[in-house]
Amino acid sequence: MLDYSIVVVGSGAAGLMAAIHAAKGGGCAVLTDGPLGRSNSIMAQGGLQLPRPGAAALRLFEEDICRSARDEVDAARVKTFVENVASTMEDLVGWGLELDREAGGDFVRRSAGGLSEPRVVSVRDQIGPAIVKVLRKIVEQSSIEILEHTKVVDLRACAGGLELDVLMRDGDAKQIRAKAVVVCTGGTTYAEAQRKSQPTTNPANINHELFERIRALGIPLIQADYYQYQPFGVVDTWGKDVGRCVPESITNYPVRLLDRDRQDIGEIRRDRYELTNLMFDLADKGRAVEIAGGRRGFWLTLSDVPVETLETNFPKVYRLLQRSDTVGQDILVYPFLHYHLGGFRTGPAGSTAIPGLYLAGEMVGGLHGRNRLMGNGITDSLVHGAIAGRAAREYVAGS
Ligand SMILES: Cc1cc2nc3c(=O)[nH]c(=O)nc-3n(C[C@H](O)[C@H](O)[C@H](O)COP(=O)(O)OP(=O)(O)OC[C@H]3O[C@@H](n4cnc5c(N)ncnc54)[C@H](O)[C@@H]3O)c2cc1C
Repeated sequence: MLDYSIVVVGSGAAGLMAAIHAAKGGGCAVLTDGPLGRSNSIMAQGGLQLPRPGAAALRLFEEDICRSARDEVDAARVKTFVENVASTMEDLVGWGLELDREAGGDFVRRSAGGLSEPRVVSVRDQIGPAIVKVLRKIVEQSSIEILEHTKVVDLRACAGGLELDVLMRDGDAKQIRAKAVVVCTGGTTYAEAQRKSQPTTNPANINHELFERIRALGIPLIQADYYQYQPFGVVDTWGKDVGRCVPESITNYPVRLLDRDRQDIGEIRRDRYELTNLMFDLADKGRAVEIAGGRRGFWLTLSDVPVETLETNFPKVYRLLQRSDTVGQDILVYPFLHYHLGGFRTGPAGSTAIPGLYLAGEMVGGLHGRNRLMGNGITDSLVHGAIAGRAAREYVAGS
C-alpha cells in the first residue's frame, strides 16, 4: 500500500495546476493514465480569455459568461472564476508562458463569438501545448512524485482519508491511500461522441470511467447532459483518430460560411450555441454539402485569409492544409462534439460531501451553462485546479 498526504489524479491543466498548489506541504503524488501531460488540455488551440485590468473589464467578462450561458450558471462559481483568471495567468507568465505580444509589448487580444470586447490571448494556435509545457516543467522540478501510466479504477472513503484502486504501468493492481484526493480527469465528451456516433475534436480517452465511479459515490451532477459543439470541425478529419478543428479566432479575419450553392449562411461572429444550431438547422434543410460516408459540411472561406497569416498565426491549421494539399482553398467544416459543459456540482473550492475528496476542471459543471465562450475551458481548469489544490493542502494541514 502506497501512502501520500495528497494524491492528484490526471495531468491536464487542472491536474498539473492542482498538484503544484497541493505540493507545498510535501507528500504529494500525481497519477495519470498516460505520459505526464497527455490530456485534452494539450490539444487546446485558439487561446484563452484574459480580461484587461480594472473593475469595468471584469464586469463585462462576467456579463459575457452569464449571457452566453443563458444565465444557467452557478453564480458563485462564475464570480470566483472571473476574479482569479488574471492572477492565475500572471503565475503562468511568471513561470515562462510566452503569450503573443504586439510590437509595443502588450498582449495581442482578439475577439470571438459572444464577446463584448477583444479578450482572447494566444500562443499562435497552440495555447495548450505551451501551457502544459510550462506546468510540466514546474511539476518535474518539484518534489511531487509522478506516477505515469497509472490508471485509477476506483476510489472510496476510508478511515483517515481515501483509498484508490490503481493499475500500475506494469499491469500490477495496487492500492493507494491519501488524506486528500483531487480528481481532475476531465470531461466525458469523447465517450459521448462514441455513444452518439458523432465526430469529435477530443482524442480517445478514458475520462468517463472515473467520472462514472464518482457518480456512483453519490456526488451530485449539474447539467450533466450539456455538451458543446465546435463549429469549425474539419470534415476531412471526420472519423479519423482525432477530429481536427479550426480555432474560432479565425473569425477575426474576413471568413464566411457558405452552403452547397455557395450562398453565405449569415453572421458567423456569434456564440457557438447559436452558430452550431444554425448549421444543424440548415443541414436539416438540405443546404449543407453532402459527401461520402454520411459526412456533410459548409465551406469555410479560408481563401479570404492571406496564406502568410495562416502560416504565421495558425501554424497547426496551416500544416493540416498542407497535408491535404488545400493551402489557399476553402475547406468544409461542420460542428464536432467538443466540450462537456455540465459535470459534478461541488463546493466553491471543489469540495464534495466526502471529506478530503476534491474535484476540478472540465469534470465540474456550473460555470458555462448552455454555452462556453471560447477560451474559458483551459482557464476554468487552471483556476479551479489551483483553488482545489490549495483547499486540499489546507484540509490536510487542519486534519
Ligand atoms: C481540440 C481542442 C481544442 C481546444 N481549444 C481550447 C482553447 O483554445 N481554449 C480553451 O480555453 N479551451 C480549449 N479546449 C478545451 C480545454 O483544452 C479542456 O477542456 C481543458 O483543458 C480540460 O482540462 P482538464 O485538466 O479538466 O482535463 P483534461 O485535459 O482532459 O485532463 C484529464 C487528465 O486525466 C487523465 N485521466 C483520465 N482518467 C484517468 C484515470 N482513471 N486515471 C488516471 N488518469 C486519468 C487523462 O489522461 C488526462 O491527463 C480545447 C479542447 C480540445 C479537445
